[in-house]
Amino acid sequence: MLTSVWIIAHECGHHAFSDYQIVDDVVGLLLHTALLVPYFSWKYSHRRHHSNIGSMERDEVFVPKPKSKMPWYNNYFNNPPGRLLVILVTLTVGWPLYLAFNVSGREYDRFTCHYDPNGPIFSNRERLQVYISDLGIMSAIYVLYKIVMAKGFVWLVCVYGVPMIVVNVCVVLITYLQHTHPSLPHYGESEWDWLRGALATVDRDYGVLNKVFHNSTNTHVVHHLFSTMPHYHGMEATNVLKPILGEYYSFDATPIWKALWREARECLFVEPDEDGAQNGVFWYRNKF
Ligand SMILES: [Zn+2]
Repeated sequence: MLTSVWIIAHECGHHAFSDYQIVDDVVGLLLHTALLVPYFSWKYSHRRHHSNIGSMERDEVFVPKPKSKMPWYNNYFNNPPGRLLVILVTLTVGWPLYLAFNVSGREYDRFTCHYDPNGPIFSNRERLQVYISDLGIMSAIYVLYKIVMAKGFVWLVCVYGVPMIVVNVCVVLITYLQHTHPSLPHYGESEWDWLRGALATVDRDYGVLNKVFHNSTNTHVVHHLFSTMPHYHGMEATNVLKPILGEYYSFDATPIWKALWREARECLFVEPDEDGAQNGVFWYRNKF
């Protein structure tokens, strides 16, 4: 249920919910705020993710590091218990860490955060709306405080906290697996273009859960190509596009938990194309 709210709020950010920008923004602000997501802040960073998808320098999220920039301690996690720990931390707190500290986000020359209106993620004309998002989050926290006073903390954790953790885990799982795959490249400035980047995303198969997630799991390639299209047309459009894109369409039916374990093992950092012919093309590697 909360994933459906997430999907509609995401759609509002893409101006794909209604024909009127104001309706999209009001509905998106209400829904995302209820999920403690700063609506405008994420709308703008997410749009930038869409327009720079797959770029090593300018993509906003799930930007892999080159080997030379990997922190020294990473090698200690390159084993099954370490990997399990990284997966658990990523799934449970990856989303708030991204919003608050830009973890896995684009490298900026100073600290940045989705709650900071003056942060480098945002342009000058976007800053006022970042304040509005922050105001929304503060109001939501106040409402939650009032609920705790009336119903108690345990009640809130059961009715709101646990479903929120579940939805955050789903959001990170789905989006991580759409943007991370051993066979998909990232592009440096010399080789990147928007279409190449959009085609370097992958659709996955969650079995019966595809329906639960409104097919956001297996229509992501088409979402990157036509982001103003509502999610309920995603399947139809994907079926039309598959034969047109041919080998440029990426789909992986590996069972999700198997795929998650494999990507966490294989996709640790990136290195330029091995034969050196295309220095602007980066592939996932895992050997330190
Ligand atoms: Zn999107």
